Amino acid sequence: MSVLSDLTAALRSGAIEVVDLTAPLSAQTPVLELPPEFGQTARFELEEISRYDDRGPAWYWNNFRTGEHTGTHFDAPNHWVSGKGLDDVASVPVRRLIGPAAVLDVSEQAREDPDFLVEVEHIRAWEAQHGPLPEGGWLLVRTGWDARSHSQEEMTNTDASGSHTPGLSVAAARWVAEESPVVGMGVETVGTDAGAAAGFEPMFPCHSMLMGNDKYGLTQLQNLASLPPTGAVVIAGPLPIVTGSGSPARVLALVER
Ligand code: MN
Repeated sequence: MSVLSDLTAALRSGAIEVVDLTAPLSAQTPVLELPPEFGQTARFELEEISRYDDRGPAWYWNNFRTGEHTGTHFDAPNHWVSGKGLDDVASVPVRRLIGPAAVLDVSEQAREDPDFLVEVEHIRAWEAQHGPLPEGGWLLVRTGWDARSHSQEEMTNTDASGSHTPGLSVAAARWVAEESPVVGMGVETVGTDAGAAAGFEPMFPCHSMLMGNDKYGLTQLQNLASLPPTGAVVIAGPLPIVTGSGSPARVLALVER
């Protein structure tokens, strides 16, 4: 038996489950809101071309408009000025889109404190229990924020002092980008950075450091609670938008049951 025929047999039998980590994409999908002085990303919009009618009697289809960074999506290195000149989303080697998942669960801390920041010590404690972060893998940070993905207000959790959503500290972002062997980080929030990260130094450290180190981001993931801490495989499928900085993506995980 080859590895791939074993894999397809296990998928058929259910020994390997496919978990969809992708949020539904619609006009209601929450989006990142930047401070008002900056350009804003578009919501997802469908424009009907025809629906089995006189515009096209036997077929239904739509045009769509969306931000590259709307919904569950992939951040390419050229998204950030630190990664200017590195890969656009179409140039990311496809081999790097599939890798082992390390799932760090901080949902309890994030429930207590929406501004909770993962520190290097949290990742070190995870490694002490589960082993080193996987080479070429993805660090997936579970915060419980996927339960809010039906609501723009709950997702960005904004008050007069700004957005309050969990993320990584500057030191943790630097460690993941520069020291860890993962190719990227995935989160359940609208962006890889914490809600307060516009005020960090540097601002938006996950973006700045991941992109600057030729690494990737995945956002607005769901169902991370269905994944074991180690052993799952992530498959990320951004569209190859030529020169693009990212793309809505279907993100799946393979999990042995
Ligand atoms: Mn993004």
